[in-house]
Amino acid sequence: MKLIFATSNKGKIREFKRLLNQEVISYVDILGDFDIVEDGHSFEENALIKARTIYNMLVDEYVVISDDSGLSVPILGGIPNIYSARFAGENATDKENNTKLLAMLNEKNITSTPAFYTSAIAIVSKYGEEVVHGYMQGEVINELRGDLGFGYDPMFVPTRYTQTCGEISYEEKDKLSHRGKAMRLAKIKLDKFM
Ligand code: IMP
Repeated sequence: MKLIFATSNKGKIREFKRLLNQEVISYVDILGDFDIVEDGHSFEENALIKARTIYNMLVDEYVVISDDSGLSVPILGGIPNIYSARFAGENATDKENNTKLLAMLNEKNITSTPAFYTSAIAIVSKYGEEVVHGYMQGEVINELRGDLGFGYDPMFVPTRYTQTCGEISYEEKDKLSHRGKAMRLAKIKLDKFM
């Protein structure tokens, strides 16, 4: 059975490669690049939509895995949540999304506030569907520090850390991260049929 990732996000692909310690094939490498419409109402629904869409376009010996993830800031009503990638608009860059969140924090004179990341990983194969979750708690701050990672990493400080995810090593982020935790659960399920 071949493993295919229902994502074109380069940051996620890099993390999956590290977490699984193997080459990761994106659906883009096989089917070409196209947008998958994510119209679910939760990380779980969107992860399943992505994995099902690609699985239905392939044959049975593929196992399709997807991640839907994002940041939530409770003091701002939980945003950007499932809209993390398109917070500043469709096709927004990480920089534009960060700038929008920084502006919202500054508007309320917030220098630092609790936040968390969620990752829902869906696995779809001929054996059925599975979804697992992972979370990372911390704070968002009103400045950008470090250029490692992707997305909101330069403004996210994990609990018990002083550095942002843009400053800590990849090895450290993988131990703590929402995606690392979800992937370790997903791996247990994958090992049953891979
Ligand atoms: P998705 O591709 O629709 O799941 O959106 C994921 C978005 O959530 C990314 O584009 C980032 O904005 C944000 N995100 C998810 N995981 C991380 C992470 O590990 N670091 C920083 N931002 C993340």
